[in-house]
Amino acid sequence: MLHYGHVDIGKTKLLDCIRRTIVQEGEAGGITQQIGATYIPAENIRERTKELKADAKLDVPSLLVIDTQSFRRNLAGNFRTTTIESINLLRMRNTEFIVALNKVDRLYGWKTCRNAPIGKAMKQQSKDVQLEFDHRVTQIITQFKEQGLNTELYNKNKDRGETYSIVPTSAISGEGIPEMLLLLIQWAQKTMIEKLTYSSEIQCTVLEVKVIEGLGTTIDVVLVNGVLHEGDEIVGPIHTTIRSLLTPHPMKELRVKGQYIHYKEIKAAQGIKITAQNLEHAVAGTSLYVVGPDDDMEEIKESVMYDMRNVMSRIDKSGEGVYVQASTLGSLEALLEFLKTPADPIVLGVDVIEGIVKIGTPICIPQRDFTDIGRISSIEINHKPADYAKKGQKVAIKITGSNAEEQQKMPGRHFEMED
Ligand code: GDP
Repeated sequence: MLHYGHVDIGKTKLLDCIRRTIVQEGEAGGITQQIGATYIPAENIRERTKELKADAKLDVPSLLVIDTQSFRRNLAGNFRTTTIESINLLRMRNTEFIVALNKVDRLYGWKTCRNAPIGKAMKQQSKDVQLEFDHRVTQIITQFKEQGLNTELYNKNKDRGETYSIVPTSAISGEGIPEMLLLLIQWAQKTMIEKLTYSSEIQCTVLEVKVIEGLGTTIDVVLVNGVLHEGDEIVGPIHTTIRSLLTPHPMKELRVKGQYIHYKEIKAAQGIKITAQNLEHAVAGTSLYVVGPDDDMEEIKESVMYDMRNVMSRIDKSGEGVYVQASTLGSLEALLEFLKTPADPIVLGVDVIEGIVKIGTPICIPQRDFTDIGRISSIEINHKPADYAKKGQKVAIKITGSNAEEQQKMPGRHFEMED
């Protein structure tokens, strides 16, 4: 379960509500990790959904929630973390999802029904609240439609698969959390169980490399497949032996410093903290390999090098331009991607040397095989909007469009407008 969406929509709070902890309000005062992992055992899901009387149908052993919050929060000021961006990511990766329509308690006149199923809570509301609710839901369904997505309130959704379910929730008073958990589980059971054949092959990714008092340098990993044991020989860009395998207590966040549980071995899927020597050179975002008795060390090292090359090839190390430093590879990649996309249309002051400049005119660089940069989206002459500008005029133009990298290099350049 990947937990994704617009900043401040309540992702952390929702997770807190499921865990019934207060990560957001200070228990984890110094959260520094970008990605958190929380293990939610089936008992807790059963407990939280028991009012829905669906426990007989629960076959999934647990949920592992991966939270992506902090990094995006740090950049909240200028990062365009829009819902549309999230939707596009989900679509691009063919990921099924449900929509938590959070903060229902903000509806004017909402009557709190702590931790109740949303179906039950809705029945307690006044006619006005119910009408306002219907109105808001219709608006949201329309907005999704505009993005080419069919959505429907979970209890009216007859066409799961083609139509995504919306479940109203409040992370503050807990209404709708039972349905949200049940939907997630049902969805996991329906769509993933056949694919979820447990494999013994190790699949393990490093989330973060971190020094912990008393433990030295540790790595936090997500084990997706297979079993890890104390004493396993692990290889990434590092080569060492697992000293201890630790997890936080169930329902606690891997990022929150606290008591750890020690394991001799751990089976997937779990978020795990590993202690060992020489972990300093581990790289967040890469895979860990375990050396088995019959494995060829050279082959494994080759796989590691392949991973590293793959990762490094996505990063420009030419030494030109802005230097970017980040604590994990994931952040680094996101940051680089962000820097390549101008946040606003680029504005340029230009002298019109020849011809006429119009809104919509495409722009290209003749010296570079007429590389396309974008189109003129607005023109101003003496701070007044204009539809076109003529030879001899000085104008400000805004360019929106295709080639962000080239746009960054525009000032001072000679360029041409195509007809
Ligand atoms: P995130 O950026 O998506 O992780 O958002 P947070 O979980 O940090 O929530 C952002 C703000 O909205 C915080 O001030 C929360 O207390 C508040 N908030 C989150 N969920 C709810 C909710 O269901 N109801 C209300 N009233 N406020 C909420």
